[in-house]
Amino acid sequence: MNSEISVLKQYIDESEKIVFFGGAGVSTESGIPDFRSQDGLYHQKYDYPPETILSADFFFGHTKAFYDFYRDKMLCLDAQPNAAHLKLAEWEREGRLLAVVTQNIDGLHQKAGSKNVFELHGSVHRNRCLTCKKSFSAEFILNSKAVPRCDCGGLVSRPAHAVNSRP
Ligand SMILES: [Zn+2]
Repeated sequence: MNSEISVLKQYIDESEKIVFFGGAGVSTESGIPDFRSQDGLYHQKYDYPPETILSADFFFGHTKAFYDFYRDKMLCLDAQPNAAHLKLAEWEREGRLLAVVTQNIDGLHQKAGSKNVFELHGSVHRNRCLTCKKSFSAEFILNSKAVPRCDCGGLVSRPAHAVNSRP
């Protein structure tokens, strides 16, 4: 075990009230790519880098292109929690972990059993009509064509998009 990991382990072993703050690295082992590390694949297939596609300005300016990317790359509904998600959920059950704060939108902490999860950028599982606020599932987004619309004609999105989803 390298020294940084052993120091971290010591902190955790000595702690009774842990709050975990995580981002994309937690989910990469579940097969969800870290979109901020740009690689050739995205540049070949998409006209914009992922960083741009995930910005609020892009969402409102190029909504169909956003959803093409989102359905193709971000709605990994078959992804399963990995050892990190499961360990955090175990610590919560033991009463040692108070909360998970995450930048991820994949819902894997809850799938692993964590209850107190704060999702800073929303969740693929919570979508709402930006006009009438009706809720929609991730499956609705996945099965939508082009731009997902509510019965009322409003645009359906993660709530985070409307306010603070700039990566
Ligand atoms: Zn609506």
